[in-house]
Amino acid sequence: MQGWSFERKIQVTQLRILEWYEKWGGKVYISFSGGKDSTVLLDLARRMYPDVPAVFCDTGLEYPEIREFVKSKDNVEWLRPMRYNKSTKSWEPTNFKEVIKTEGYPLISKEVSRHIHDVRKLGNDCFAAKMFTGERGQYDISKYKFLISAPFDISNKCCTIMKKNPFHVYEKESDRKPIIATMASESRQRRTQWLRDGCNSFDGKISSKPISFWTDQDVLRYIKTFNIKYATVYGDIVEDERGRLLTTGENRTGCMFCMYGCHLEKEPNKFQRMKISHPKQYDYCIRSVDDNGLGLGEILDYIGVPYK
Ligand code: SF4
Repeated sequence: MQGWSFERKIQVTQLRILEWYEKWGGKVYISFSGGKDSTVLLDLARRMYPDVPAVFCDTGLEYPEIREFVKSKDNVEWLRPMRYNKSTKSWEPTNFKEVIKTEGYPLISKEVSRHIHDVRKLGNDCFAAKMFTGERGQYDISKYKFLISAPFDISNKCCTIMKKNPFHVYEKESDRKPIIATMASESRQRRTQWLRDGCNSFDGKISSKPISFWTDQDVLRYIKTFNIKYATVYGDIVEDERGRLLTTGENRTGCMFCMYGCHLEKEPNKFQRMKISHPKQYDYCIRSVDDNGLGLGEILDYIGVPYK
């Protein structure tokens, strides 16, 4: 499917959107991050259903250009990060600083962060500990064993609190089902999920990911072909000498301060680029917690990722 023609991809994606919309009697929404993938998805969906709502979670971690772009769109519901308070039995607003203080930093990847958190909580005999010895697990993560004794907390709870919870609450209250712009080409995990569930999954884990089989090139081509507006943080879309499309600014946006995957980036990495493009935000995230920052400088030093 990834090798299909551009035109066929558009047709099949719109068919998947139609199936989802019909199945739920129109009670659907577009999960809109303001990034280029969900901008394309929103355009595709609104060509068919102009009134379909978009929902954006304002995590405080988006590039300022992304927030501005989202503001320019009609019919967008804004959500905020939230966590469940067991003693008051209610959802309460929260923010990234509070999450890293109470739960720990998201580091390397969701899986590695989760396993580190589990080993620290359950001890060296637990299942997660075997992941770091190579006895269990599909992939070798033994090189991250040193993080088990790092002098700061690590966990994978951030995404749940910052993004999943607010959408979960919205879905319960609105009774709408999401349409999401993730693609199999983005990561091993997303590819595995797509191979298992397909684009629309109506039972088990209910989900619609109708651009799953698109590539980054398809997304850029769609933006160029239909001349749709997108967030300025990406810069211009240009062709390289081999005819491949690329952005002159950021290629992937997502959370500005997230450290997932930053150890794999070539220099200048996202933090080094941020130092030039967004110095205020850079200063805030790198500064120590004692100095009223997020303390990422110390964490990046610990895992050997340059940021200067
Ligand atoms: S992508 Fe990173 S920073 Fe953003 S919510 Fe998930 S873990 Fe947190």
